[in-house]
Amino acid sequence: MSNILNGKVAVVTGGSRGIGKAVSQKLASLGANIAVIYSGNDSAARNVEEYCEKNYGIKARTYKCDVSNFTEVKETIAKIKTDFGTVHILINNAGITKDGLAAMMSEEDFDRVLEVNLKGAFNMIRHTAGLFIRNREGCVVNISSVAGLIGNAGQCNYAASKAGLIGLTKTIAKELAPKGVRCNAVAPGFIVTDMTETHADNPLLKMIPLGHMGDVEDVAEAVSYLVTAKYVTGEVLRVDGGIAM
Ligand code: NAD
Repeated sequence: MSNILNGKVAVVTGGSRGIGKAVSQKLASLGANIAVIYSGNDSAARNVEEYCEKNYGIKARTYKCDVSNFTEVKETIAKIKTDFGTVHILINNAGITKDGLAAMMSEEDFDRVLEVNLKGAFNMIRHTAGLFIRNREGCVVNISSVAGLIGNAGQCNYAASKAGLIGLTKTIAKELAPKGVRCNAVAPGFIVTDMTETHADNPLLKMIPLGHMGDVEDVAEAVSYLVTAKYVTGEVLRVDGGIAM
């Protein structure tokens, strides 16, 4: 199992911290070469690159890119192709929140969350699909959220983007299955990261059947399952301690 992804090239968006960092490290531990896409913190991204190369003997590179920008994504995938030769695995993990009640939310806050979380995933798929089709092999995992399954008051933009990712996942799964390409989603619940720092006293936490928040490794484990499960496509795997069942 440990080298099951030897020679594969995985692109992880938002791979510099939180869930994306854990996913990058997990895929590297299985032998994949890793292209980390990030938006802000250069040194955090480089730390992930160094950690993966040193500990797992694979090749890792970092790319600063705003996934919501169609042209930047196109150029970044071209660079990754030059550096790595191709792409086999795409993890659409980059995501943001700009919470507020729908009745008071600004147009900018609604649009920006949709642009990063949903259009960002489309942009990435749009510019890697040609490589997958040429390879007759490919695997996409979109990081959705339980908010996309059951909604969450104060997160209409976020929940809409994450529900949209599920529609995107199932459509890509249907479009590209004949080409040997799979597409699945993971729907995490409350996971301990920078994004959930402010949720410590959220009353929803008391409703988690397993009684506690999840770790980034719990999500990374689910992603690695979907990356290696060769007969699974169009699936949405909840990693949520049971909160959305
Ligand atoms: P995080 O804020 O720690 O990390 C987000 C990452 O996305 C960062 O690396 C950041 O650089 C990157 N990013 C943000 N905007 C970007 C852009 N425009 N272009 C490129 N990269 C960009 O968040 P996290 O908690 O690790 O969440 C990762 C994913 O998991 C997100 O999609 C989030 O919605 C989802 N998720 C998280 C939780 C949770 O409880 N933490 C629950 C459900 C879903």
